[in-house]
Amino acid sequence: MEGISELSALLAFPKQIAVISHRNPDGDALGSSLALSLYLQSVGHSVKVIMPSDYPINFEWMPQSEEIIIFDTNQVLAEKSVKEAEIIFCLDFNSLERIDKLGLIVLSSTAAKIMVDHHLDPEPFADIIFSRESSSSTAEIIYEILIALGAKLPLSKLVIDCLYTGIMTDTGSFHHATSTNVFKICGELKQQGLDDTRIQELVHNSQPDKYLKLLGHCLHNRLELYPESKFGLIYLTREDYRNYDIQRGDTEGIINYLMMLKSVHVGALVTNQPSIIKLSLRSKGDFSVQRICKEHFNGGGHRNASGGSSKQTLEETINKLKDVVPKYMFVNQ
Ligand code: 5GP
Ligand code: MN
Repeated sequence: MEGISELSALLAFPKQIAVISHRNPDGDALGSSLALSLYLQSVGHSVKVIMPSDYPINFEWMPQSEEIIIFDTNQVLAEKSVKEAEIIFCLDFNSLERIDKLGLIVLSSTAAKIMVDHHLDPEPFADIIFSRESSSSTAEIIYEILIALGAKLPLSKLVIDCLYTGIMTDTGSFHHATSTNVFKICGELKQQGLDDTRIQELVHNSQPDKYLKLLGHCLHNRLELYPESKFGLIYLTREDYRNYDIQRGDTEGIINYLMMLKSVHVGALVTNQPSIIKLSLRSKGDFSVQRICKEHFNGGGHRNASGGSSKQTLEETINKLKDVVPKYMFVNQ
């Protein structure tokens, strides 16, 4: 594995390490970061996990999640932890913009920087780069790194839970981005004691009652279909945020219902959040929503799953999407 001997040399003696992941951390950001952190601690390093913003409550069960330093609410400690680090791991993102103000601190740090990521178009800000677009998740690459570093097997139950959470969530429970490697690794995790059903229950079947009320509202009142461009969207207004008490993570998974329709090849969830308009885009087949997010919405991600943001109003953003998506249908064909 390219870069592993340099990494191994860096980790030969106990170090102060910062593990950073992206804003609005998802299961892979959390799973890969916590798994790596738990492993590094077990071999004698001192590790702090730092994220720009808080994580959804359905990940609160994750080991050491309560120790994650959140920049939004603990700016001083977050900055101090990054500044004091001798090694900085950047997990599940490839552009410093994804970690907001922490990006500048990482850029000016003299620590060794290691990127582990699977998104398209990486920026070359790290000293050692493990970047593979064909990987399902950052957790998948972390597993391979741990094996290549000679981690003692079986891995600890906590590390196994975190890695599986990352792979499971980023493949949409093995619906996309799968490969022989994904199933091989999950087989190995199972052999080492993984209780995968428990992880599914904790992550997916632990929603509060309001989740189904919000989903019903989205499907009944906020769904628009444009059959001529095989495009569908669901939007949420600022009033919806108030009326349905929408919190971080509550809109997770809603876009998948749109993609269940045969008539929808490109789907969007546009949310007018209290401070920003966020977009989540999904596509089927060769259609690249990554290009749309990168070229029009200040974002990126993967070919079939990307995100971005908009500084326009909700209505303007929706109109822009309706205008832009059909144009890319021809580009992509
Ligand atoms: P989601 O729509 O589930 O929030 O994100 C889908 C994918 O797009 C994820 O891989 C996520 O990391 C990426 N993504 C989401 N929002 C942004 C963004 O604002 N900028 C970039 N570069 N990637 C994003
Ligand atoms: Mn990921």
